[in-house]
Amino acid sequence: MTGGALQLLAGKRAIVTGGANPRGIGAAVVDLFLAHGASVAVLDHAYPDGAAAPLIQGRVDLHCDVSRAASCETALMRAKEALGGIDILVNNAGIVAATRIWDLPEDEFRRMIEVNLTGTYNVTHAALPALLESTRQPAIVNLGSTAALRGGGLLGGSHYAASKGGVISFTKALARELGPRGVRANCVAPGIIETDMTLGKFGENWEQELKQGIPLQRFGSPAEVAQAILFLASDLSSYSTGIVVDVNGGFHIH
Ligand code: NDP
Repeated sequence: MTGGALQLLAGKRAIVTGGANPRGIGAAVVDLFLAHGASVAVLDHAYPDGAAAPLIQGRVDLHCDVSRAASCETALMRAKEALGGIDILVNNAGIVAATRIWDLPEDEFRRMIEVNLTGTYNVTHAALPALLESTRQPAIVNLGSTAALRGGGLLGGSHYAASKGGVISFTKALARELGPRGVRANCVAPGIIETDMTLGKFGENWEQELKQGIPLQRFGSPAEVAQAILFLASDLSSYSTGIVVDVNGGFHIH
């Protein structure tokens, strides 16, 4: 889906974290947002830690390690400077690991929470003053996961499921706290999406078995998740806050 004549984000200024991997969900969100008329600051730890950068064709790439509060403060200051304000925040950066509980050391558990949950807090907290200043229907969209709803069990272990469960609860609380101040907060919960996190990770037999168990009989694409994120970031969802939108082909129906 491209923007074409329908510009759902015209004049909006967006932050997307974890957008450096061209095969990831973040990159699909950036492409769709640009096609819909937004200007976008892409934050990722893969980008070099340089000085402030200008917008080029509506986009600026900035270094940010979401697990470090100081890094987020600097990146958000630069993003606000480049964009002139912030109306949309997409907390997409994340990591996954399948380690089962009997093999799971404390430092791996801690790191998972630091990136996925504390990272979501760090970026949200740093972006909040600008979001509260926005007069363009500001919105936060966070990345949960089906793993949080069904108890992990695939490529995500208990630490991944817990981190994403935390993101979902955090989002619901944000919706309650920020609604009266004009900021919406919602989640998407993707199922199995074809990115580097999943591609080739199941092995042929398990992959076929999994697909047969999905009502739509296939894995999803990053673009299909981006479309749900576009809905939640745009004014199309103006009366929705605190919701979790499943993008899982029917894999988990509840
Ligand atoms: P990717 O690994 O392609 O994208 C995640 C991006 O976040 C990468 O660019 C990654 O960089 C970056 N990142 C990791 N750690 C940090 C950090 N500390 N600071 C800044 N950036 C960081 O994965 P997906 O596109 O698949 O995942 C995107 C989001 O969707 C994640 O939150 C994931 O948990 C969620 N999700 C994905 C599902 C799937 O099936 N793919 C299912 C459910 C949820 P690097 O590559 O260097 O690690």
